[in-house]
Amino acid sequence: MRHTETVASIKHWFFAQIGFMNIFKRARVRYILHRYAISHAVWLAVIGKLSFLQGMSAVEKARLRELTTLFLYEKHVVGTQGFELDETVCVTIAVQACLPVLGLGFNCLAGWRDVIVYPAAFRVHRDAVDEAGVVHPEEQVLAGEAWSRGPVVVSWADVARDPSGSGSNVVIHEIAHKLDGLNGRTNGFPPLHVGMSVPQWTAALGEAYQQLVNRVGHHHQPCINAYAATSPAEFFAVISEYFFCAPELLHQHFAEVYRQLRLYYRQDPLLRLHQIHATPVETLHCNVLAKTIR
Ligand SMILES: [Zn+2]
Repeated sequence: MRHTETVASIKHWFFAQIGFMNIFKRARVRYILHRYAISHAVWLAVIGKLSFLQGMSAVEKARLRELTTLFLYEKHVVGTQGFELDETVCVTIAVQACLPVLGLGFNCLAGWRDVIVYPAAFRVHRDAVDEAGVVHPEEQVLAGEAWSRGPVVVSWADVARDPSGSGSNVVIHEIAHKLDGLNGRTNGFPPLHVGMSVPQWTAALGEAYQQLVNRVGHHHQPCINAYAATSPAEFFAVISEYFFCAPELLHQHFAEVYRQLRLYYRQDPLLRLHQIHATPVETLHCNVLAKTIR
């Protein structure tokens, strides 16, 4: 009896501690959101420029703004090669970094801190191993890269380039690598949610990847960026760009891949696109009228 009471008492204490920690965490988040709020003018200007954010509900936009504020507080965004950051630059990068985790939670971005911003594409020197196992020094020009447990690096010129409709997005690409690596290996197979089918994921992405590799190998025009055929990891990063920035194109060519990404990211960008097209005509007329009066 005494033992049972002791166990119950420990359980009560344990859950009380968890409850206290959750209250403390929520209070801390509320403080950050209030104390380090993004200026409204900058927020509106940034999201107004990013066409793939249109069609989001008011709730989604509010959540995205909260995540972006937390990102700018938790991460260390720093310019290099003389590139000077301002609030618009930081918010533009942060909001795109947070879009993929809108349905996953901010914790998915834990384990690293720095975002390094180059003014334009940057050169790196790496050792490449050929098929015979011989190491060759190689110079590459990159728009971005994500280090395992290290920084995300991006070129501002590539971030700022209007990606509307093209399916290209360097920030989403690098964040997809980060999410991919959450289970310890960056191999195009991120930790799936409970209820998602591993065989269905593997079949959908595996078939699509192989199809793309074959097209590129036979010098046929690929339906998405040929860089996706480099490796399964790059395939996952590139299709994540298309999922958010050109969902129609991804769905048209790889419908089952789109469905798997929708389950993984817990978002439906294609639905957002349809909502934009379904905007009532009356509302558009009202906006035009308002502009004319001013
Ligand atoms: Zn990549």
